[in-house]
Amino acid sequence: MMLDSHCHLNDDQLFGDRSQYIDEARRRGVGVLLVVGWDVESSKKALQITHEYTNVFAAVGIHPENVDGASVNDLKIIKEMTKDPNVLAIGEIGLDYHWVKEKSERERQKDWFIKQIDLANEIGLPVSVHAREATQDTYDLLKAHPVRKSGVLHCYSGSTEMVPEFAKLGFYFGFDGPITYKNSTIPKENVRKCPLNRILSETDSPYLPPVPYRGQINQPSHIVEIVKQMAFLRETDSKIIENAILFNFEKLFHVEL
Ligand SMILES: [Zn+2]
Repeated sequence: MMLDSHCHLNDDQLFGDRSQYIDEARRRGVGVLLVVGWDVESSKKALQITHEYTNVFAAVGIHPENVDGASVNDLKIIKEMTKDPNVLAIGEIGLDYHWVKEKSERERQKDWFIKQIDLANEIGLPVSVHAREATQDTYDLLKAHPVRKSGVLHCYSGSTEMVPEFAKLGFYFGFDGPITYKNSTIPKENVRKCPLNRILSETDSPYLPPVPYRGQINQPSHIVEIVKQMAFLRETDSKIIENAILFNFEKLFHVEL
């Protein structure tokens, strides 16, 4: 069985047809989904989907691009949601410097990252981390504010040199569509160098469709292409990758599948 450890069926592009996408994923052997929120509303939707289907779980949290305007009350609502056993992680949280150049805005992202790490530690959940063009700051922050239950660097886009460093902090690495793209050498190298016991498969649907679906809306069933590519890059059998990912998911998110 394969799994998608990071998708957004709660996104408007997928939400309306979610049953169709879940059926298609199951048909292709992708039996477990983790639907990730990026603000209060999307987190609520993620949780809603977990109540409609089995083996669909949620992560709830506020994405760095959404911390502008986020309030203490939002954090309270997120905390309240974590009482639901289908919530497996706080996420996605982290740092995204792509559009944010202003120091004060980056500080605000850090502040919200820390707030949500504190929440994860308080309730005893792992975190799903979004880090874009902010690898060093993410590392420094995670080192200074350890996550008790560890977490995953979703769509890992840092350097290969940093893989063992994050692994030392207990972190896992999520890989998606870019590992299938012709010119993305670093993500490919990261898949090769990532310890097998730290690897996770994700689509980040509706974004980042893998080859041969580029230009289309991505969906969880495309995990099949991700796993195939992982096996190819590591010169091993897909079954070995599948089983490792299943084991890693259960271990990180404390769930029995
Ligand atoms: Zn995402």
